Amino acid sequence: MSDTIAAIATGEFVTAIGIIRISGDLSLTVADNIFRHNGKNFSKLAKDRHMYYGEVVDERGELLDVCMCAVFPAPNSYTGENMAELYCHGSPTVLTEIMQLLNRQKVRTAKPGEFTERAFLNGKMDLTQAEAVIDIIESETSAIAKNAAAQLKGVVGQKLTRIYDKLLDIIAHFHAVIDYPDEDIDEFELQNHNKTMTEAINELKKLLKTYERGRLLKEGIPTAIVGRTNTGKSSLLNAILGYERAIVTDIPGTTRDTIEEKIRIGSNLLHLIDTAGVRATSDAVEQLGVKRTISALEKAKLVIMVFDSSQPPGSDDFEIIGKIPDDTPKIAVINKIDLKQTFDIAELEAQKFPICYTSALSGDGIEDLIEEIAKQFPEPMHTAGEIITNQRQSEALAKAVESLQNAKEASTASITSDAVLTDIELALSAIGELTGATLREEIVSRIFERFCVGK
Ligand code: GDP
Repeated sequence: MSDTIAAIATGEFVTAIGIIRISGDLSLTVADNIFRHNGKNFSKLAKDRHMYYGEVVDERGELLDVCMCAVFPAPNSYTGENMAELYCHGSPTVLTEIMQLLNRQKVRTAKPGEFTERAFLNGKMDLTQAEAVIDIIESETSAIAKNAAAQLKGVVGQKLTRIYDKLLDIIAHFHAVIDYPDEDIDEFELQNHNKTMTEAINELKKLLKTYERGRLLKEGIPTAIVGRTNTGKSSLLNAILGYERAIVTDIPGTTRDTIEEKIRIGSNLLHLIDTAGVRATSDAVEQLGVKRTISALEKAKLVIMVFDSSQPPGSDDFEIIGKIPDDTPKIAVINKIDLKQTFDIAELEAQKFPICYTSALSGDGIEDLIEEIAKQFPEPMHTAGEIITNQRQSEALAKAVESLQNAKEASTASITSDAVLTDIELALSAIGELTGATLREEIVSRIFERFCVGK
């Protein structure tokens, strides 16, 4: 017996269509109470999962909206419970009135993520699929959306379930030999299971390795814009973004802290960090900014070095280059090309960076710079759906790999079988955490709290 919940799935904004979702035992009865098709209650004649045109009316028969309704009897629904959906006009006033009507019919307003939580608890999807739902909704690039869509289809979940089953077979075999000594069961030799463990470790490690890429896809590739003060870093950030994000003045040291913004370039999300520059200063606030610049440089996956082409190169121009880790990709930007050129690029050319010429003021060269940035991050090599983008999942994977490695080492060091099996069980529980097969209730609640209402 589940209580019945409802929510405005499309949010409380003015939209063309506003969808109210209802899930739980009372869904079909409630739909019957409030919706009329050709003036009649429609649930008896309604075909499952078909849309009907009609009217929503309140207890006094007063018309609230002219709309469509569909019913999804259990178990063939998103949540696995009886469900109904109303496709109304997207007026927050009308939708709120219908929600109040439902509340008067013992239907409670759903909590964020409660529909997907019910889908998970009713076995309609595993946890990797449920988390993919939120990833699709929140995706900022098509690469993330495609990956999440494939995860929603169960790509990762199925892979993990196959590994889980094979490991479970090892444990089942051990217990079968002990519990049924008279049966004709092959003797339990841990060595015989080494291949399965090695394969599982390799597969899990491969998946774990994708997290680095997944994190960059989701959070954006950290890209530091560095250079002497007044070379035009903030202006360049604004020009790349296409709007005024950073304050631009000709007073050196204006960008005292780092300014961060995300932008989509090609199939990637870039996390641009406009730094404070690294000039020597006695100003405490500016010194802090310089410290953050150094830290941004260390974390960056791409550094855009900005030079003022209207000034002769100074030693601090090159000091900055020295602070960038050698293996970090770099692009040199010669800015202010609209002014008289006094910068000698010979030294930069010798270092073989890609060089772009821009005027952040007029916008000249900005497109070429964006193209050059895109070239640094070609299309991902992974198959969609096989990139882990979630820290919780990566931690569970790491735990599973570690436990299996312990099990494998112990099995070759002639440690007793049951000690080895404890490690395999730990790996199983970590994989179970990932798919949701062995997840504690409070963790489940926490995961679904991140969702929006109506999902
Ligand atoms: P930052 O200190 O490196 O962030 O430099 P800002 O973006 O604050 O720019 C410093 C000054 O240079 C401002 O007065 C900008 O208007 C000016 N500036 C920036 N880019 C250009 C450019 O391409 N051409 C010209 N003529 N001036 C620019």
